[in-house]
Amino acid sequence: MDINELISLRLVHEIHTSERKSYKACRRRWDWLFRQNIYPKTTAKPLEFGVAYHKAMEHYYDPETWSWDREVVAEAAVQVFREKCEQQRKAALESGQQITFDDDIEADYDERVALGVGMLRYYFKKFAPVLDANWHPLEVELGFRVAIPDPRDSSKYLWCKCDLCWGKWVNHHGSLYASDEVIDDWQGLPVVYAGRLDVLAESDKGELWIIDWKTAATIRENDEVFMLLDDQIGSYVWALRALGYPVKGFVYHEQKKAYPQPPVMNKQRYKGRMFSVNKQFATEWEIYEQTVREQDTQAYEDGLYDEHIQWLKDFGGTFYRRTLIYKTDYETDRIAEYIGYEALEMIDQDLPIYPNPGRFGCNFCAFREPCIEKNAGGDYQYALDTLYEVREPYYMAQESSTESKGGR
Ligand code: SF4
Ligand SMILES: [Zn+2]
Repeated sequence: MDINELISLRLVHEIHTSERKSYKACRRRWDWLFRQNIYPKTTAKPLEFGVAYHKAMEHYYDPETWSWDREVVAEAAVQVFREKCEQQRKAALESGQQITFDDDIEADYDERVALGVGMLRYYFKKFAPVLDANWHPLEVELGFRVAIPDPRDSSKYLWCKCDLCWGKWVNHHGSLYASDEVIDDWQGLPVVYAGRLDVLAESDKGELWIIDWKTAATIRENDEVFMLLDDQIGSYVWALRALGYPVKGFVYHEQKKAYPQPPVMNKQRYKGRMFSVNKQFATEWEIYEQTVREQDTQAYEDGLYDEHIQWLKDFGGTFYRRTLIYKTDYETDRIAEYIGYEALEMIDQDLPIYPNPGRFGCNFCAFREPCIEKNAGGDYQYALDTLYEVREPYYMAQESSTESKGGR
């Protein structure tokens, strides 16, 4: 079987975009999550929000409905978001994990739905019509699997002979095939880089771009250095070029997890103003000015809000940002090389596994409990068996639009 045939039959060792980050952050967590497919029974809240938000964006940018009335599509996308959140709420309530906190679960989901609906409506109404004027989507949620070149000799690809790969091979051919001779001759399964990108878009000039939606609590200033270096998004550019799409680069679309709201009234007039001038509050100058002009007219006319309105005009109200990052062929070749070196480590069956604690990483790690137990020589397996479950890898369930090609 040639490499393309193996890839199309999914007889491959897959390395996923999210897996690379996990591997480099902490090998112990990576080993549990990606090698042993152990998942916590409950999903972290920020992940669920991101999933629902992406579903809505996928609907809004569906190429099939791109020529339809955008307002109608926007409302349908909001509905998709609501439905996904409802599914998540139901699953959380049914899980039995937190049954005594039902009220909190309900409140938490209500808050999440309100936030997402507010964010989406604001984006669809105010920004999308302007930002989307010069391009159209070609694909949404486009999956890919690309053979990884061997970094020691880029005319070849990487192959893997791990137990999992052998198991897949034997499964495919039947166990009779698994003679010692066959094992000796077997070159292994190709190692592929697999992922899924949010949108493949074409500009009016005919250029192809990858768009990635990021939701975050804040939009950081001076983040361009990281975007230039971010090899996760850069790896999508390499992967699509390897599949024959002449992609120019990627568009980082950051969306703040907030939407502008009218300012809050102080409990009592403070320094002559009825409304708060808190800079952390999510608002934008138009809404703010209109509210204070209508509801605190005298103070507004006396200029007591001028400074804050000016600040909002200059610095406030950044709810989204789009940044275009070009990638040269030289850069994407390097990305392929680095992915190759990482893959060589990840498929090494003798790779030492050890924890890599970090204040940020551990605080948000879903494996804290078994990790602490393991460090203390305790029964960490008990925690893994009771609070976690072995699942089919999450990406196996997302196969519908996956392209599968090996050639470069
Ligand atoms: S708690 Fe920290 S050290 Fe332990 S597995 Fe998680 S990230 Fe690694
Ligand atoms: Zn393997």
